[in-house]
Amino acid sequence: MITIKPDASLLPLNTMRIDGTANYLIEFENADDLHRLLTDSACEYAVRNGLKPIGQGSNLLFTRPRYDGALLKCTAGNMAIIAEDCDSVTLRVDAGVELDRLIARCCDDGLWGIENLSLIPGTVGAAAVQNVGAYGVEFKDVVRAVNCYNIAERKTCTLDVSEIAYGYRDSIFKHQPAKQQLIVTSVEIRLAKSPTPQLGYGHLSSLVADSSDIKAIRQAVISLRRSKLPDVDETGSAGSFFKNPIVSDHRLEEIRSLAAAHHIDTSAMPVYDVADGKKLSAAWLIDRAGWKNAKEGHAAVWGLQPLVLVNADGKASAADIVRLAELIVNDIEAKFGVTLSPEVEYIP
Ligand SMILES: Cc1cc2nc3c(=O)[nH]c(=O)nc-3n(C[C@H](O)[C@H](O)[C@H](O)COP(=O)(O)OP(=O)(O)OC[C@H]3O[C@@H](n4cnc5c(N)ncnc54)[C@H](O)[C@@H]3O)c2cc1C
Repeated sequence: MITIKPDASLLPLNTMRIDGTANYLIEFENADDLHRLLTDSACEYAVRNGLKPIGQGSNLLFTRPRYDGALLKCTAGNMAIIAEDCDSVTLRVDAGVELDRLIARCCDDGLWGIENLSLIPGTVGAAAVQNVGAYGVEFKDVVRAVNCYNIAERKTCTLDVSEIAYGYRDSIFKHQPAKQQLIVTSVEIRLAKSPTPQLGYGHLSSLVADSSDIKAIRQAVISLRRSKLPDVDETGSAGSFFKNPIVSDHRLEEIRSLAAAHHIDTSAMPVYDVADGKKLSAAWLIDRAGWKNAKEGHAAVWGLQPLVLVNADGKASAADIVRLAELIVNDIEAKFGVTLSPEVEYIP
């Protein structure tokens, strides 16, 4: 079923809790709905200015008081087993399912692979777009295929995981032409029936007594996240505001020298080996540059995790957040020679 809501409030559509209005909010359930929407002349007024798919808006920053187009939100919430063998189960999950609801269900059923992603806000459709990750696991690790509707060609398509070009918080869906054309309608994921615990990241292993207890792993992840991240029901945020930068070995030495010139000790700077160089911790850079708890208007840097910018008192405007982000980017550039890029998507 399609529902078209004109002049929709943005407040319930973004976890940063930025107020505003979208010309239209269009809710749909499946590819047939999308096809009807695009071929029905009665809906033409709503789709005229383009369609922007959203989930729960937990990675978005609406930068203007009015979004001059139509937001497209999947409301379907089904998950079904489509294949099973002695080692694994393959599920087809609608794009509109809340990711943490899926994870809770899988943990209850003893299906392994996504327990480390517990409590990440958002929908399953967006998780496949974003390649969400936490505690050493990425969503791509379980994705087998993504079912989409192509709004340019007005037909459905299925992308095998090998066609999605997954990377760090990246996929084909984040780049043109797919970004403008493909609406994710459901995701197929394969999960293991026997324990495959991934406890190598951070303090996770010290919190789990029995590594074959999937529910204990989920609870440990949840308590770790609650100890440092804002609760989106209480404080507006969009999670990590910046991506962790990746630099070459050569650049690393320059970064250390520049930091030393600013009296910043980099001897304990976290540096991780990745395929295309060295990954730095954006949180560490922001912390050492002195931004923890900093404020700009009603926006602030979260004290327990400086990578997170928050709507401190619920009254922040997008301009407050953008300004704070700019000040941080400029300062990190000056002190470390590293340009932070946003993980959060700015919506014009
Ligand atoms: C407190 C907090 C903690 C977080 N922690 C993490 C974390 O640990 N790891 C992590 O990776 N992320 C984290 N995030 C970021 C966020 O949860 C993820 O990016 C999530 O996948 C966004 O889901 P969403 O449904 O809210 O998508 P939205 O923010 O609404 O959209 C995100 C992107 O996906 C696209 N999209 C959404 N639905 C569809 C669809 N059906 N078809 C095509 N494109 C679509 C949108 O156009 C947009 O480009 C956190 C956010 C918050 C607020």
